[in-house]
Amino acid sequence: MAKQSEVLFQRAQEVIPGGVNSPVRAFRGVGGAPLFIEMGQGSRIFDADNLQYIDCVGSWGPMILGHGHRYVVEAVKKAATRGFSFGAPTAAEIDLAEMIIQAVPSMEMVRLVNSGTEATMSALRLARAATGRKKILKFEGGYHGHVDSLLVKAGSGGATFNVPDSAGVPEEVTALTLIARYNDLEDVRSQMSDEVAAIIVEPVAGNMGCIPPAEGFLAGLRAICDEHGILLIFDEVQCGVGRTGRMFAAEHEGVAPDIMTLAKGLGSGLPIGAMVAKRRIMEQWKRGAHGNTYGGNPLSCAAANATLDLVNSSMAANAAAVGTHFASRLRELAHEFPCIGDVRGRGLMLGIELIGPEPERVPARDLAQKVIERAFHNGLLLLTCGLSTVRFMPPLNVTAAQVDEAVGLLRTSLSEALSLVGK
Ligand code: PMP
Repeated sequence: MAKQSEVLFQRAQEVIPGGVNSPVRAFRGVGGAPLFIEMGQGSRIFDADNLQYIDCVGSWGPMILGHGHRYVVEAVKKAATRGFSFGAPTAAEIDLAEMIIQAVPSMEMVRLVNSGTEATMSALRLARAATGRKKILKFEGGYHGHVDSLLVKAGSGGATFNVPDSAGVPEEVTALTLIARYNDLEDVRSQMSDEVAAIIVEPVAGNMGCIPPAEGFLAGLRAICDEHGILLIFDEVQCGVGRTGRMFAAEHEGVAPDIMTLAKGLGSGLPIGAMVAKRRIMEQWKRGAHGNTYGGNPLSCAAANATLDLVNSSMAANAAAVGTHFASRLRELAHEFPCIGDVRGRGLMLGIELIGPEPERVPARDLAQKVIERAFHNGLLLLTCGLSTVRFMPPLNVTAAQVDEAVGLLRTSLSEALSLVGK
């Protein structure tokens, strides 16, 4: 009998391009149909065929409190009974802005939007407005959402300099985007001029391969920006809100940006984003120029306020403690499996970089896909990033016992993947 996920995928392909609303959901490397999910509970999810998985994907980042956290569900339910959207302000938006500013004392004002993409798009526009300059600099392999000018070298593929990564993005738009190597201050310095409005960077680079900044890198960027009158944008969409064991990942480095973007974990799975900036910069937004029907939506704000309450009080500390345990378990695995070339990340944003078995019969990327595929069949949901990194983003309230269970399944999956690729 056909699996429910396969039946649903057949239906979806008739009416949705590729059968999914975001290409990553196709789980293409796994083969067959994508998973159609029935429900989630804590750190587990259940598919349409009632199979269960330990979830280290977390909706690609947002599910920082796990699925169906009671405190967040109650807050959203309460807001829902009052109304879904008013096109007029509510107090919940002020509460949220105040909480964000309290958590990042260097910032003074918050603009609420609906996603990470909108937050980074708004940040670029604000930077250009505030400096009167056009160019922006991003890092190779850094993904900041589907903003036209940022879709250059945004994945791990071999796109050439300034050629857009996606059809439909004009080269004239990406011509204003400079690209430098992450953790390479000299490369950044060599491209600086008084035409550059902003540098956008993730304080832990997620899609690039879960790469933390080298010591002094963020501080170096800060100094370059100050020297050239350039604004520094920290994209904390993925690494922010407790994920790395601190409220924001840049806190590990003690460097403050001029503009910061948030989304994903902020809403615990409800769509919300925030662009956060210093007052003197934010006041350069001309009123009325950036309308937004759902910005500050009452349900999303209720979820975000409840989320920040919890992350502030205990979750970030748990992420730091369990993240250390997780990393040390992964390092143990690296002793067992020489194909694990590196274990890196911060808090509960971790990755293992795989290297292809010798002699190079299997590219590392194929091995990573095979590991993900076997993990999927063994009941563990993982995702890749960079060229050949397997990434782990469990909820911040995950326990050490759950981590051990995930590591056990990963060990089995690594063995199976290696024997399948003939090593
Ligand atoms: N910035 C970063 C660092 C991200 O990881 C993402 C999403 N993966 C985005 C921005 C875009 O966020 P969204 O998908 O909510 O538009």
